[in-house]
Amino acid sequence: MKRDPVRRGPADLVREEILALKAYHVAPAAGMVKLDAMENPYRLPEALRGELGRHAATLPINRYPDPTAPELARRLRDTFGIPAEAGLLIGNGSDEIIQIVAHALARPGAALVAPEPSFAMYKLNAVVARLRYVGVPLNRDFTLDSPRFLDAIQEHQPAVIFLAYPNNPTGNLFPEDEVARIIAAAPGLVVIDEAYHVFAGKTFLGRLAEFENLMVMRTVSKLGLAGVRLGYAAARPEWIRELDKIRPPYNVSVLAQAVAERVLAHIDVLHAQAERIKTERAALLERLRELDGVAVFPSDANFILVQVPDADAVDARLRERRILVRNFHGSHPLLANCLRLTVGTPGENDLLAAALAESL
Ligand code: PMP
Repeated sequence: MKRDPVRRGPADLVREEILALKAYHVAPAAGMVKLDAMENPYRLPEALRGELGRHAATLPINRYPDPTAPELARRLRDTFGIPAEAGLLIGNGSDEIIQIVAHALARPGAALVAPEPSFAMYKLNAVVARLRYVGVPLNRDFTLDSPRFLDAIQEHQPAVIFLAYPNNPTGNLFPEDEVARIIAAAPGLVVIDEAYHVFAGKTFLGRLAEFENLMVMRTVSKLGLAGVRLGYAAARPEWIRELDKIRPPYNVSVLAQAVAERVLAHIDVLHAQAERIKTERAALLERLRELDGVAVFPSDANFILVQVPDADAVDARLRERRILVRNFHGSHPLLANCLRLTVGTPGENDLLAAALAESL
């Protein structure tokens, strides 16, 4: 006689460490001044948007994309000065590159080391890939605790280290010599995550030849193309060859490849927008420093971390005023009462500074 199956649901079948995870939170943003996700607030010029539209109409979207993305790869190399000797990996956002690296290096017992607090996806991907995650706390002022980091390297012999340069959500850039010492001391791969490179102007790209274990990862998201979903990483070809094996072959769509390639041909437009954002960052920093009861942390990125007396209350009051920022209270002891404010347009920053003054 046929018996009904004993049906098991997600609570029985999904891995326990995934059941225990909290979903990456993306706040609904309709009708809000959106200052929570480090996006570039400026649209592309009308003429360039028209050009993109006409170009998109010619694309063979009935076909799968070319997995090697030759035109995009050439454009990335030319635009960002990626050395000819380096291999290049393209991802559906740098989020996907983090995932690929974590999965490829997840031999049993292998560790992923990163400073804490830093970008949440390093830990999430470690957990999902079954890497041992080791977070090394930053100092109270968010500077790198180099002796402790070097001890963690000795102790855990990590397969991979992630360092955001500048760091998210703290906004600061760790000193180049301290980072170089970590790369030199690391037994495994070191990924320097330069997501905010355009606002900091510092890079390890020129040091790829010096370190065989260095990977420089970037994204076009903060430059102004967050919706396109494109990240890239440069490292010795031996690394890229292995990582490329587990990259989904069609991970960057025909549309994303073509749009990124065309916009990067006009990199001056994006660089001019980044300069405006840097000017606005300086102005916003100054205004925030005038507010009583707000501690303002220095920033080399397109966002500013602040500490307020009661972050949950301030966050709620900002939302009432239709302003969305990122509240980190409760996510890490060092981020108690911290809010991360993305630098917006001058008008958005005025609204933010005024609303913040009224919300304390
Ligand atoms: N690295 C860092 C440090 C980030 O802050 C972010 C985005 N918040 C990313 C990587 C991921 O960027 P994307 O997936 O948009 O390329």
